[in-house]
Amino acid sequence: MNPSIDPTDGATRDALARSPKVLLHEHLDGGLRTSTLLELLRERGQAAPASDAAALGRWFDERAHSGSLERYLEGFSLTVPAMADPHALHRVAFEAAEDALADGVVLAEFRIAPLLFEAFGLDGDTAVEAMVSGLRRSGLPSGLIVCAMRQEDEAQTRRAADLALRWSGRGVVGFDLAGPERGFDPSRHARALALVREAGLPITLHAGEADAGERVLQAARLGARRIGHGVRLAELLDGPRRSAVLAEVLQRDLHLEVCPTSNLHTAAVAAIAEHPIAGLWQAGVSLSVNTDNRLMSRVTLGNEFHTVLAHTPLGPVDLLAMTLEAARHSFLAAPERERARDAVWAHAQRTGATGALAALLRERGLPGPPAGRPPAA
Ligand SMILES: [Zn+2]
Repeated sequence: MNPSIDPTDGATRDALARSPKVLLHEHLDGGLRTSTLLELLRERGQAAPASDAAALGRWFDERAHSGSLERYLEGFSLTVPAMADPHALHRVAFEAAEDALADGVVLAEFRIAPLLFEAFGLDGDTAVEAMVSGLRRSGLPSGLIVCAMRQEDEAQTRRAADLALRWSGRGVVGFDLAGPERGFDPSRHARALALVREAGLPITLHAGEADAGERVLQAARLGARRIGHGVRLAELLDGPRRSAVLAEVLQRDLHLEVCPTSNLHTAAVAAIAEHPIAGLWQAGVSLSVNTDNRLMSRVTLGNEFHTVLAHTPLGPVDLLAMTLEAARHSFLAAPERERARDAVWAHAQRTGATGALAALLRERGLPGPPAGRPPAA
């Protein structure tokens, strides 16, 4: 608990809602509105586990708090078939971007495995086209990350990589490996990852969530610039290799996309108060706060900011610095990253946090305010 802030206070909530945010890690098939999911299930003649949006929300709540990863993942067996239609994908992508805008997000990357829809008769290119057009319909600067599933064989990962490269520069901004981590070594997909890397498409990989911290370093060595979760890196930082591991993470400028509540729901951590986010940040690791699956975990990015303030020693200036780091590590083009950065500095100036933010960045060896903006309010 942070002694300098009362996160239950309404003014704190308002300030967090207005604070500009950058979202790097959210799955489109894990972030539908309950009302939309219900309508899509009905349109496609699929059985719904609840008859109205509120009851469907409770169905997801029960799974989020069951302590079972399998039950948590049951939600995807509802969303993926319900979304397997170009109009549905367009709608879900558009609504995700609109929801993010309403949550104060100024730049976002959304991800999904488009080849999952092949089982329902929808090809990858049609799926990507529908989602890219949905994202573009919103005013939010955003991009799509194509995921491959790590439990599939390399030929399938290669197909996902080829799909991502066909859409690179046309709405697709990155490549990821998602799916069950333990038992599915990412080096099985090394050739597909090398192909993506050599073509210049940035890579972020899920690692160090369900499996050991060593997986984070392995993912970085396979070409990942960012890591989905990566929280078990903290175990390596608690051990005898701390300085060597930290040196490698800093030298690579690796960024962790941390999703605190998701980690609780998938049992990667036992409690938010025990989450390693503060320790990793204070050790100097670049990271940001993200949602992962808004629907399955019943969160928004604003809620996640609030959760971090309420249960860790981190404060609002840390969140601003993390947001600047998220913008700096985004796969979107430089003008979009710079606009997001400028929005954070403008907010810092409005709230009198410019001096504290500049000091924290200086201490961490990070870029300060853009030219023309004074370092102190
Ligand atoms: Zn994820």
